[in-house]
Amino acid sequence: MPIPYERLKNALLAEKANLTEQLQQLSAVAKEEGVGYSTHPADDGTTAFDQARDLAVQVNEQQTLQLVNDALVRFDNGTYGLCLDCGKEIDAARLKAIPYTPLCLSCQSKRERRS
Ligand SMILES: [Zn+2]
Repeated sequence: MPIPYERLKNALLAEKANLTEQLQQLSAVAKEEGVGYSTHPADDGTTAFDQARDLAVQVNEQQTLQLVNDALVRFDNGTYGLCLDCGKEIDAARLKAIPYTPLCLSCQSKRERRS
């Protein structure tokens, strides 16, 4: 199965726009709420929980955005679709599922086993 580069690049660009917007919204909310400060002592538990959850989401989205940007760079230098570890072509079905993945399935599972 050939790799549908054009479609994957469009998917990456859409993902990038989506993540950038979500991150902007999250940082806007953090500013409004005033991180680490609440005028309602009774709400502290909830607020801290919400902030921790927002922060976890934010970190996760930043990491994904980094992967998306890296993948777009690989498009530009012509190495997109090649595994970073072994240099072989990543399976087209895997790229369709996760367009920003830098690793083929076997290298990914090797890394997961190591960590
Ligand atoms: Zn590999």
